[in-house]
Amino acid sequence: MTAPRTRDEWQRQADALVVHGQAFIDGRYCDAADGARFDCVSPIDGRVLTQVADCAAADVERAVTAARRSFEAGHWSRAAPAHRKQILLRLADLVEQHADELALLESLDMGKRVRDARHGDLPGAVRCLRWTAEAIDKVYGEIAPTALDTLGLVSREPIGVVAAIVPWNFPLLMACWKIAPALAAGNSLVLKPSERSPLSAIRLAALVAQAGVPDGVFNVLPGDGTRAGEPLALHMDVDALAFTGSTAVGKRLLQCAGRSNLKRTWLECGGKSPNLVFADAPDLDKAAQAAATAIFYNQGEVCTAASRLLVQRSIQDEFVARVLAHARRMQPGHPFDPDAAMGALVDNAHAEHVLAHINRGQEEGARLLLGGKRVEVVAGGSYVQPTVFDEVDAGHSIAREEIFGPVLSVLGFDHEQDALRLANDSTYGLAAGLWTCDLARAHRVARQLRAGSVWVNQWDGGDMTAPFGGYKQSGIGRDKSLHAFDKYTELKATWIHLGE
Ligand code: NAD
Repeated sequence: MTAPRTRDEWQRQADALVVHGQAFIDGRYCDAADGARFDCVSPIDGRVLTQVADCAAADVERAVTAARRSFEAGHWSRAAPAHRKQILLRLADLVEQHADELALLESLDMGKRVRDARHGDLPGAVRCLRWTAEAIDKVYGEIAPTALDTLGLVSREPIGVVAAIVPWNFPLLMACWKIAPALAAGNSLVLKPSERSPLSAIRLAALVAQAGVPDGVFNVLPGDGTRAGEPLALHMDVDALAFTGSTAVGKRLLQCAGRSNLKRTWLECGGKSPNLVFADAPDLDKAAQAAATAIFYNQGEVCTAASRLLVQRSIQDEFVARVLAHARRMQPGHPFDPDAAMGALVDNAHAEHVLAHINRGQEEGARLLLGGKRVEVVAGGSYVQPTVFDEVDAGHSIAREEIFGPVLSVLGFDHEQDALRLANDSTYGLAAGLWTCDLARAHRVARQLRAGSVWVNQWDGGDMTAPFGGYKQSGIGRDKSLHAFDKYTELKATWIHLGE
């Protein structure tokens, strides 16, 4: 079946959608223990979509107890990897079959263009589930090179109860980057989606159960960071915490681990990614288009958004003019509208946060070339124009802080070392890009960029085969690829004496 295409087709599906808001604990949907709920508001038009269970410490207790019980029971944790693989492949099929519905939930809940959700997030989630499921019965242990009288085995075991706390910008995709390797490795999981985008995780729970994952192995606790997230991070019976979100919250979670049981704490955090354009870039227009897309895709709500554009001064005016031409076409619209280049920001509070950064940029002396304002695409929605600044100084807040919105800061550089100094002058180190025809320069600069992903003559390449994560304060650990299993397994050395 082909996905809807027109705004009306998507709207008809949205009108027929039943939106669920309960937690999922031990194989069943349920309310929060104290009955608390919060309004789930769509940033498209400010409409309340449903009420969602506002989970807190008592619910964390129930979910962790269920997860521990299921882990100890062994129906999942001790099942053959090939068995877990089959069930996760079934889950991937179910997610694929429900792709329209899940994409709609993402779009309604956090404002992204529905076609990005349908043709980007959803296929990405399915590929992640399939790739990881396929991998789990192909990963071998090791035999240590010991003396002949000893057998040294190096094996991986599931770690136990894993908590995953995820953000709102790619709700289902970020969740799957945790769920797939954590479940494939045999763990039990408690997932806390963002309070700003809980709907797809809640819906996913039913599909996980339908796929055949035993009760208690997968739990979903909607709720906010302090009521639901922090009790999870402090829980003595959670063995590992996999987090994607801001660096500020990541730091708090490390403290929680230290104050509790030293749970393994893996962090995928923020970024302020530099995109370096040298005068010898192979195709300036392609680079300019990529520079605009790299900041305005998903309304700039992307951890790897290329929010710092560093351009060699000899081409700066010409290149910025090309970027502006593309940026002008990237105006926000209704997320169901096929002609909209951006959707709504996640909520009004975030739109105000983005506008405050824009005001600060102007106060600090950067030159506003484009945008900078809210637009009323739909009454009650939260839409902000694509915004471009130049004459940005490396010390300006818009060159240093993650804005997480459609705001581009342009800085000039004279030569390679200058570019590298600017690029690495950040507390973050998630991603970086560079554009050049010079092969030696491409390798030289890529090596010196302090970032977990480096893209040459492209932006945002990658698939499940390569790890993803950050240097510096952009995180600890890696998602995707076989390296993701490091987060969800303990490494055991077993020594067997073979002598008489
Ligand atoms: P956030 O840090 O505010 O929230 C992330 C999650 O943490 C949410 O589920 C939230 O409820 C929870 N949380 C908040 N306070 C908490 C606390 N005290 N204890 C426990 N949990 C708590 O981030 P956000 O606004 O949802 O997402 C945007 C951020 O995520 C940006 O910084 C972005 O760069 C980052 N991000 C990083 C990656 C990556 O892979 N590196 C991917 C996507 C987003």
